[in-house]
Formats: sequence, C-alpha cells, structure tokens
Amino acid sequence: MATEVTNYKCPNCTGPLRFGGISDRLECDFCGSSFTVEYIEELNKDKTEQAAENFQGTEFTGEWSGGGEEWGEDGEHIRVYHCPSCSAELICDDTTAATSCPYCNNPTVVPGQLSGALKPDYVIPFRFTKEAAVAQLKEHYKGRWFLPKEFSAQNHIEDIKGVYVPFWLYNGVAEGDVAYLATRSHTHREGDYEVTTTEHYNIRRSGSLEFKNVPVDASSKMPDDHMDSIEPFDYSDMKDFSMAYLPGFLADKYDVSEEASRERAETRCENTVESALRNTVIGYESVMEIGKNLNIRRGSVSYALMPVWMLTTKYKDKNYLFAMNGQTGKMAGDLPTSMAKLWGLFAAIGVPIAALLTFLFLR
Ligand SMILES: [Zn+2]
Ligand SMILES: [Zn+2]
Repeated sequence: MATEVTNYKCPNCTGPLRFGGISDRLECDFCGSSFTVEYIEELNKDKTEQAAENFQGTEFTGEWSGGGEEWGEDGEHIRVYHCPSCSAELICDDTTAATSCPYCNNPTVVPGQLSGALKPDYVIPFRFTKEAAVAQLKEHYKGRWFLPKEFSAQNHIEDIKGVYVPFWLYNGVAEGDVAYLATRSHTHREGDYEVTTTEHYNIRRSGSLEFKNVPVDASSKMPDDHMDSIEPFDYSDMKDFSMAYLPGFLADKYDVSEEASRERAETRCENTVESALRNTVIGYESVMEIGKNLNIRRGSVSYALMPVWMLTTKYKDKNYLFAMNGQTGKMAGDLPTSMAKLWGLFAAIGVPIAALLTFLFLR
C-alpha cells in the first residue's frame, strides 16, 4: 500500500529519531547517536518526496476503518494513516502534519501537508525541552494552593505536548498622518490679578514604520490571545524549513488563509504607528486626536512553524489551555479557582474565630 506518512530512522541502528532541541540535532532513542538536520533531510529525501506524492491523490472516501458514517459531519476532517513502524492506524485531523503513533510512540511525519505550495518558508526549532517545560509549569503552579488538583497532578503535567503551530509573518510599511488639538497654559501675576493664558495648538504628525515578520497564528484551533501572549519569538534563530525539525513533536498545517489573518497584523501595525506618532507630541497639558489617516503598504508574507508547548485541562466542563513559547519559555494561560478549596480556607479560619468568640462570651 502506498504510504502517505514517513518517519526518520537512525542510520546506525534503525531506531526512531527525534529532533533534540538544544542539541540542534536528531537524536536516536536507542543507540544515542545524533545527526544534523541537513544530513537526515538528504538521507530521507526520496522517501519524503514519495510520501508527499502519494498524499496528493488521496481523498477521504469514508471507506477506511475508523472513518465513515460514525464520524458524521466530522468525517470530512478526519484522515487515517498507517504507522510506518507498526502499521497501526493513525487517526488524524486533516491539518495534522506531524504526530506520534499512539501504539509504538514512533514520531511520524505527513510530508504531503507541508510540501509543494504548502511548504513553510521557515521554522523556529524547539529549544525548550519537555523536562524544562514541565519544570517551569510546576514552578508556575507552586504556591497556588487554590488550584484544583486536576491541574497540578504530575501525570497530567506530563501530558504537555510540543506543537509546531503555523503562523503567517507579514512585512510592509505602516504610514500615518495624524492631527491633534493641544493646549498649554501659563499663569502670571498683574497687580492683584492672576492671569492665566491658554495657548491652543494645531499639531500634525506624519511618519512611517517598517514592520518585519509580524506574526499571526494561522490555525483556527489556537486561541489568538494565547498565541499573542507568548510572543515575541526570537527571529535570529529562524531556520529555512526542513521536515527533519518535526520528529518528536506535533505539527499542524495552516487552516486560516493569509488573507483572513492579514487584518489582525495590519490593525496591530496601524496601532503601533499611531501610538509612535502620539508619543512625539509632548510638552502639552492636553492633547486630543482630531483626525487620522493610516495606511499599510503591503510587503511579502512568509509561512512559518513556531514551537509551542500546550496543555489542555478539562475542569467542570470547561477547557483550560496553557501555552508556552517553545523557544523562550514565556507562558500564557488561565487558571480556575477551586471553590471547594476556598471554602476550605473559610472553614479553617472560621473555626478558630468561632472558638475565640465562644471563649470571649464565656468570660
Ligand atoms: Zn541508533
Ligand atoms: Zn506505530
């Protein structure tokens, strides 16, 4: 059967390879050897291209086991592959580009999702290991005694997943032309009188800002505010895309188009140029913006995969997402408060107070 998925095997012992993050190399689980990304990419070129080619013609037919009617309308977003190591079925989302086999745990890549016109330009590799991410998350939870135990349980924290999230990176120039009304007043004494003079100014500022690689996540599954909060990424470590950075992590291809994401990037750049111009209007007592003209000159757009550690926790029918920048360790997430634990506190404080009051009344 033509396979659409591939994996990277150790050239020494055929064990599974994973991208090692800090080492910047692919490491073998079994014999401890490690190899450069370029070497493994070259070694697997034919296999990867073949898998990508097989992918092109495949449409979901509903005939695969695990597919079909039981999926209902979701069926069209499900893809089923076979693990190249143990041939177990891998049931994936239609955006999945890299995953691990749930049976043999071997990393698997779906080259067709990231080839040809879908090929990312860049990738920022994971630099924060899973151990470091787990340690940092534990530190984050420490001292938050009101946190429900579902969040801080060791086996739950170990569930943290490294995901390469698709992003669009926008380039261009933001131009602004803004008019303000401002006032400045001063007081002086004339005999018995105190005279206040108020000067009114018409101010105009115009300028432009060049922006480079303004990131907007291109995945409908990722909440925008979480993705914005874990910025910035350090672009000095951005690499030309290679599939050999993926083994050992999950990866998604984009499902929000460049056009649909563009507005968020442009609004952000317009706000930046507007506030930069405003910051040059200084030395007045009041400043009011009375008119503006903001314009974006569009430049190139790149497609990149960014490293994010993610952990979702279901608590009282609500999903909580924790996200961490896989390059810098910056965190974002919301946490609930356990009411049971809070009431526990009131009870703990309440009892001694009641005891004290009883004691006072008894005297
Ligand atoms: Zn090996
Ligand atoms: Zn497997």
